[in-house]
Amino acid sequence: SKAQLFDKETRPRVDFKDVAGLEEAKIEVMEIVDFLKNPKKYTELGGKIPKGALLVGPPGTGKTLLAKAVAGEANVPFFSMSGSEFVEMFVGVGASRVRDLFRQAKEKAPCIVFIDEIDAIGRARGKNPSFSGNDERENTLNQLLTEMDGFASNQGVIILAATNRADILDRALLRAGRFDRQIHVELPDLKERLDIFKVHLRPIKLEENLDISFLAKQTPGFSGADIANVCNEAALIAARKNKKYVEKQDFLDAIDRIIGGLEKKNKIIS
Ligand code: ATP
Repeated sequence: SKAQLFDKETRPRVDFKDVAGLEEAKIEVMEIVDFLKNPKKYTELGGKIPKGALLVGPPGTGKTLLAKAVAGEANVPFFSMSGSEFVEMFVGVGASRVRDLFRQAKEKAPCIVFIDEIDAIGRARGKNPSFSGNDERENTLNQLLTEMDGFASNQGVIILAATNRADILDRALLRAGRFDRQIHVELPDLKERLDIFKVHLRPIKLEENLDISFLAKQTPGFSGADIANVCNEAALIAARKNKKYVEKQDFLDAIDRIIGGLEKKNKIIS
């Protein structure tokens, strides 16, 4: 049914403890958590709560995770959609989907609306008019702009969107009162990789005295998603060998495998 198609509401059980690193981004989104929890504190002094923020950074760096953690910390519903879903939709469906999403969100406010891959609908308009489906994309984008303008910022709906290409977004999206805040999320450094390993090693049965900082050192350029993959892959490799614990060598094998996968991906791109 239509309701089901649009029903993407969840209550994430993720909180800031699950997000390793990203200290600056966390500080910025903590403000959003506070808006959601205590809107009056801001509006009583005449402040306007921002309607949305754009999370900008490379794939797998925790943008979705961070958005979910905002909802989790504020204990509010989380509605999500992915920009890329719209590209394949029939005429008129994208815009009506956006309308629906916001109608539901306003009913359930305070809440978070999360739009992943917003660049898929939010690319600058009119650059490539011959591209098929362009009209549909524009309709969807226009509907999103209309919706963002159509509610007051004190209604308790905060829109978070994610992209790895803020530079290609339509300027209209970045105007005041829309996504006028950008929160940057970068690939993790050594210390952050260590912290991400610690999060993802929580459920893993490790050999005694395994040096986690060694793992962080072996994974420069890895995103949080890659590290999550390494941890899981290492556990699977160890299990296949009927081990009782996951050992350093299993991690090294997993890291090799992930590097292999990343290289393949890069080959396809270039
Ligand atoms: P994309 O741009 O590809 O959508 P994203 O930035 O939204 O990626 P997420 O989907 O949030 O990335 O990350 C994927 C998974 O990687 C998370 O569910 C989590 O398991 C892990 N991960 C990524 N970043 C972190 C982090 N900073 N701390 C802990 N885990 C992380």
